[in-house]
Amino acid sequence: MNNIFTYTGNPFVDAGITAMLVWLGKEKPEDIEDYEVKNLIDEITDLYTKDGWNKIMYSIFPNSKLTNPSVKDKKGEYTKFLNELLSEVTVLGNGGNCIACGRRNYKRQFTKTQVPLTGTSDFINFFSYGKEGADYCSVCALAIQFSPLIFYKAGNLVCLQSNNKEAEKIYANKCKTFIDMQKATKNYTGCNDEGYTNPVNALFHLASDIILTYDRRDWQKDNTNIRLYYFTNFNQPPIDNLSIFDMPDKIFKFLAYALQHEEKDNWKKVIKRGYISTKKVNLEDEEKYKNLRNDVYERLLRGESILGYFVDTSERKTLVGWSFLEYYMKGVRGLEEKRLETIKRVSDDIAELIKAKGNVRRLTQLETAKTYGEFRNVLRLVIKDRINAGFERPLFTIDEYEKYLFPEGNLSWKETQDLIIFRLYEQLHNWLTGNEEIKEIVIGEESDNEIEKEELSYE
Ligand SMILES: [Zn+2]
Repeated sequence: MNNIFTYTGNPFVDAGITAMLVWLGKEKPEDIEDYEVKNLIDEITDLYTKDGWNKIMYSIFPNSKLTNPSVKDKKGEYTKFLNELLSEVTVLGNGGNCIACGRRNYKRQFTKTQVPLTGTSDFINFFSYGKEGADYCSVCALAIQFSPLIFYKAGNLVCLQSNNKEAEKIYANKCKTFIDMQKATKNYTGCNDEGYTNPVNALFHLASDIILTYDRRDWQKDNTNIRLYYFTNFNQPPIDNLSIFDMPDKIFKFLAYALQHEEKDNWKKVIKRGYISTKKVNLEDEEKYKNLRNDVYERLLRGESILGYFVDTSERKTLVGWSFLEYYMKGVRGLEEKRLETIKRVSDDIAELIKAKGNVRRLTQLETAKTYGEFRNVLRLVIKDRINAGFERPLFTIDEYEKYLFPEGNLSWKETQDLIIFRLYEQLHNWLTGNEEIKEIVIGEESDNEIEKEELSYE
């Protein structure tokens, strides 16, 4: 009998199916046979009753045959329960009222004792139609019993889900390797635990692991998003025990780009700058910082810009190259190619002028402009400088100004400023630091600023 399992979209059912696929070395859920599941039942009952695992079962299947102290033969009772489910297995139909697969009818209801994050049967009004549990068919309930094999411990438990089933399998394979190691050493410690307690950092760690497992794989061809269900299923309050963390595919692709790029070490420096701490942290020792909040990660997940982390303003230098920045701006921020090209060309012209005239003041003015009007006026001064210096090509056309430099005027000016500053640092850093004379101008600049202010008039 095959065609029993199929992906359902339910994270716990699908995690169980993924675990079975990896343990059985199979490709598709539909390929799993019922007799193969029977063999796996032995494996999980054995594992779940080992000390390190049994402890975790309290927060996955509370009050179950596995954890209830009144049950003496835990292994025997749980095996009986699994075999009961197995005996009720039927092939996928065309319809049914199971809330996970919708392809079979439920035979009985399940509570959080067998299915995490449902409810207890005392709360009848918690379940639809006032029933005493959730309507899962026996096959989906059986699949869920395998899901702990690939849970990850990060403080609470993590159930990982991805639209890209290959990514899920790469992750599940890591869990299998981890459990195989426990079996070989007879040291049973429970679900994979690498010392993460911060779920956002755990998400980036797991995604990075998936990416790097196939170093040369072209992740850019797939759309891969990763979702973490971060949960506990304790029988006690707090009831509110689920958080969801999403990594959208454009962030996953960017991470894959960054980790496989020749500048990956620079990217790691950018990440390190993102850790938030009130005291000085030793960034050589990962154990010391891995659970601190990271502003770069959090911004990426919130859809906010991390452009500021790509430059070191105190040293006037960039941490990554323009092409890296370009990928980020296009892939993650959705910036038009033509806009980036124009900003780059204009910045290069400004850099050329600053070098030719030795006028670092203009750089300072561009850096410190606080409003759209102020910034525009500095650009006007640059245009004037260029005409005085005999440059013939205009800095930009009206068309370029309106379409590409400040397409939304006030709304987009800050992003344009940040990009121009980035490119100026990239072009000028060596010149600024390698030239003694320039250093003096930089230092003597403060007093000149006063005079310059008169030049800044507003429209
Ligand atoms: Zn089902």
